Amino acid sequence: MSGFEYKKGALHAEQVNLADIAKEIGTPFYCYSKSEIEQRFAQLQSAFADLNPLIAYAMKANSNQAIISLLGKAGAGADIVSLGELERANAAGIVANKIIFSGVGKSEKEMSRALELGIHCFNLESVPELERLNKVANKMGVIAPVSVRINPDVDAKTHAKISTGKFDNKFGIPYIDAKTVFEKIKNSANLKAIGLDMHIGSQIINLEPYNEAISLLAGLFSELNENGHSLEHIDIGGGLGISHGNNEPIVDLLEYAKIVRSHIAPLNCKLILEPGRWLVGNAGVLITKVEYIKQGAGKDFVIVNAAMNDLLRPTLYEAHHDILPLTKTKDNSQTILADVVGPICESGDYLAQKRNLNSLKQDDLIAIMNAGAYGAVMAGTYNSRPLIAEVLVKDDKFEIIRKRQTIAELIALDDVPSWI
Ligand SMILES: *Cc1c(COP(=O)(O)O)cnc(C)c1O
Repeated sequence: MSGFEYKKGALHAEQVNLADIAKEIGTPFYCYSKSEIEQRFAQLQSAFADLNPLIAYAMKANSNQAIISLLGKAGAGADIVSLGELERANAAGIVANKIIFSGVGKSEKEMSRALELGIHCFNLESVPELERLNKVANKMGVIAPVSVRINPDVDAKTHAKISTGKFDNKFGIPYIDAKTVFEKIKNSANLKAIGLDMHIGSQIINLEPYNEAISLLAGLFSELNENGHSLEHIDIGGGLGISHGNNEPIVDLLEYAKIVRSHIAPLNCKLILEPGRWLVGNAGVLITKVEYIKQGAGKDFVIVNAAMNDLLRPTLYEAHHDILPLTKTKDNSQTILADVVGPICESGDYLAQKRNLNSLKQDDLIAIMNAGAYGAVMAGTYNSRPLIAEVLVKDDKFEIIRKRQTIAELIALDDVPSWI
């Protein structure tokens, strides 16, 4: 079940007609389904029920306070990558001992604030980071709980820009150096090693790379503990792919859980998951309006009022998003071959290329599907386009969870020095 379905020819989010939201708040806007997010979270919990994992939502996928709060209420922790995300998680009421701090560039300020709040664990990515954290913890007179992000050198078989588990990526510590690094942690008075972690990429469809990488981590876990360390958990990161349409296969969650279980259950250790996209990706859409249909040579351009500054994924990752009309026309036989593009002055500004779409006309509304993850969070204001609104639907109600930025607010962010 998806939170988005046609009812009497009109695309709905749960019981709300998306065209009604457009009428009330204008376009473009993101719309999310509360029940879809909750159902995904419950599915994940149930697939791993016997292992009772900490599910630390990778909030960079969608960090709206409403989304983090609802996942927090459902029992999720948070995987964070910045001070901003730490403060967001804290403000949303996520308890500190469910927060995992990932990322290659943690600053002193980020470390001290995370220590002050008492987070579950820092996922260390380098030796200089380890040394800095030891110093910061020492100054504060506390012990920092740490895990080491292992780079397993596996190919996640996903897009190059979201592949993170090979030796030539900036992430993690090569598995061949793990023992040396854990010795260094042991000799650091203000660090305590509690786990191992990995995150090999995003939008992973093929489960074999997980099998390979988790197997490597499990072996390392046993070896380290036999050598006198006392690690408690393995954190297998996120990355599980979803279907963005285009007949992309859907990964089998139970198959994924089975692979994880086969390596983790025998170790009797705690399991941590860091899903982002899988929880929220299918639970959001971007609604936009057709401004013009422009006839080109061999294909048409559907020019809409959303653009790459609102949804960067097609431009950045060549990502596919299905596109659906908000109103199903009676005659679905007529299709056009078109690029769906925004108004921005860049050839890279497109939301879809070479699509067969049901014929569209000016002022029609369309939905860019499966845009709940890495959509709104990557938005910018290029071409002085204000940030767009975000809406959350629950049953037959909707609420604005981020109001549309006004042009006046955008301009007010700048200052003109008196000497100009
Ligand atoms: C981005 C990220 C995730 C989440 O990735 P998804 O593909 O959205 O599941 C998890 N862990 C880390 C360390 C990340 O950087």
